[in-house]
Amino acid sequence: MTGEILCVGTELLLGDIMNTNAAFLARELAALGISVYHQTVVGDNGGRLREAVSLALSRSDLLVMTGGLGPTYDDITKETAAQALGKKLVWNQQAYDRMEAYFLRTGRVMSENNRKQALMPEGAVVFQNENGTAPGAALETDGKIIVLLPGPPSEMEPMFCDQVRHYLEGKTGQTFFSRTVHLFGIGESAAEEQLRDLMESSSNPTIAPYAKTGEVLLRVTAAAPDREQALRLLAPAVEKIQKRLGPYIYGIDVGTLQHAAVLALKQRGLTVSTAESCTGGGVAKRITEVPGASEVLRAGICTYTNEMKAELLGVKEETLKTCGAVSAQTALEMARGARVRTGADIGVSVTGVAGPQQSEGKPVGLVFVAVSSPWHESEMELHLARGSGGERERVRHLAENHALYAVQQTARKIPQR
Ligand code: ATP
Ligand code: MG
Repeated sequence: MTGEILCVGTELLLGDIMNTNAAFLARELAALGISVYHQTVVGDNGGRLREAVSLALSRSDLLVMTGGLGPTYDDITKETAAQALGKKLVWNQQAYDRMEAYFLRTGRVMSENNRKQALMPEGAVVFQNENGTAPGAALETDGKIIVLLPGPPSEMEPMFCDQVRHYLEGKTGQTFFSRTVHLFGIGESAAEEQLRDLMESSSNPTIAPYAKTGEVLLRVTAAAPDREQALRLLAPAVEKIQKRLGPYIYGIDVGTLQHAAVLALKQRGLTVSTAESCTGGGVAKRITEVPGASEVLRAGICTYTNEMKAELLGVKEETLKTCGAVSAQTALEMARGARVRTGADIGVSVTGVAGPQQSEGKPVGLVFVAVSSPWHESEMELHLARGSGGERERVRHLAENHALYAVQQTARKIPQR
């Protein structure tokens, strides 16, 4: 099946927002075995939108559109798509009821023009919107399919994962199962290099790398009639990846670094406390993103001044004076202090220079992360800046990644109780 993606929105054309919908859909459609040869962006303009839709339908089996499904006059996607496939818009009571329930649930008042969102192309498969008001839809005429999805990623992505993916599997006649291998400490291109021959020679399952900030995911996807057969196809590929990239793999199907860290702590009945400087509590925040974090997190202590590092964490004044706040020794004493003073099994700390200015004569991006447990103590020196400037957030995020990874690795070293 061939498909294409058409994103509607003048703010996309102007570069005001990033077209993350196109990236998301491109990945998802590829994972469904749908060949995507074109991506298009058009503004909120009837004429150009009609043109783009008819061109897409002339060359592809499937057209996935996002944006312009809302209630306002410039939201014309649904009308244009329906017209292109010769469908009338008809009242859909279920869509209306769901919308009304959404407004009740969120305590907002439905305006008259929201009613327009309950008009659906006749015969359409309707995708309910659990996170907003505009429902999505799929319409089909003579083997040509248009899928309509809302613009906001927070509405579009769950709708795709929960409803549209299944609908499209029905159309392609294949079911897909994936396993995700999570890597830390290796870049996307280095990982790809190690796997290139596997990636090129294997078409079922496929192996596709995705880079996140400071992390790489490998998605291994098999097409098969059922789960069991898919798992049988996936296992040898995952094994080969493990053999080649073992030391970098922090988990399989674990979600995120913070999920992996919390899981490792839970499995061993351990607790952690954090002591943070340049990340401002970011490590603790990410741990608390994981449901059930209260079982493993004792305290998150954010100490920005030297005075507080000494008072709250017991970092020695001598250390601060001779080594500085951004140093391996300070990091170690912070981690130890967090652990001992809160009675946690593991203490983890971050201290560094996030920038843009250097501090204590130390360069932007210099970060120390330390972990302390009764069984093991260590610290590491990281250089996280690329020297391009404006990377304060990136440095902080990477520092958090290292701290979370260190927690997981430390927890794994501790014998099960
Ligand atoms: P609404 O009901 O909010 O009007 P809609 O389906 O009409 O939703 P748009 O009005 O086109 O969608 O876009 C709403 C918002 O969704 C945009 O302001 C933008 O923040 C986000 N958005 C739209 N398209 C994209 C895209 N391709 N990638 C990322 N974000 C997008
Ligand atoms: Mg809109």
